[in-house]
Amino acid sequence: MDTIFYLLGKGVVILALIILAVSIFGAVLILYSFKTGHFFAARLMLISISLLESVIKALFLLARADASMVDDVGIRLRNYINRKKFLRIPHTGRFIFIPQCVRSVDCPAKLTPEGIKCIGCGRCDVGEAKKFAEGLGYRFFVVSGSSFIKRIIKKYRPEAIIGVGCQLEIKEGLDLCHSHDIPAIGILLTRAGCVSTTLDWNKLYDEISDRA
Ligand code: SF4
Repeated sequence: MDTIFYLLGKGVVILALIILAVSIFGAVLILYSFKTGHFFAARLMLISISLLESVIKALFLLARADASMVDDVGIRLRNYINRKKFLRIPHTGRFIFIPQCVRSVDCPAKLTPEGIKCIGCGRCDVGEAKKFAEGLGYRFFVVSGSSFIKRIIKKYRPEAIIGVGCQLEIKEGLDLCHSHDIPAIGILLTRAGCVSTTLDWNKLYDEISDRA
């Protein structure tokens, strides 16, 4: 009996050491990617982030580093992996989802079952982006609520998606698209919040026109 407990204990210690070693390796790769913008062993990195996210974040906190770097790199990594498949989809098969918080606070657009219907009044940059994207063949939606994207995916079955949002929204959105086998690109807001949020519009235009 003692031998069994001894072997069991030894196994647990070895497993914990392996998890720690892989997490440290993953954390180093994440730091490298965050600083350089390059990805080394992208799929391996994605697996380590997916399986060991909480351990890696704990290591960042222990080292007094910003744990949100893990999510940031995770999003960029998913974009990097998805991009090849995304680019194979014609513009007419792609949808764009923009959060309503980027609109002007004086937005006159009305809420409809297809989201908030931008009328291109010129009070914010959404109208121009919509016109440009629709001109290329995209379907463009201003998201009105949390279940909106799920509903639109179910209704129209888009072949590829570009989504804008805060870190949590992009993470959940990428997971949702992955579960529907839809290649998706996530663009983070440069200032998140409930109103008057901002994004890098050039980045969005680059993604829309396949220049990213
Ligand atoms: S451009 Fe569109 S989204 Fe922006 S304020 Fe006007 S109607 Fe609203």
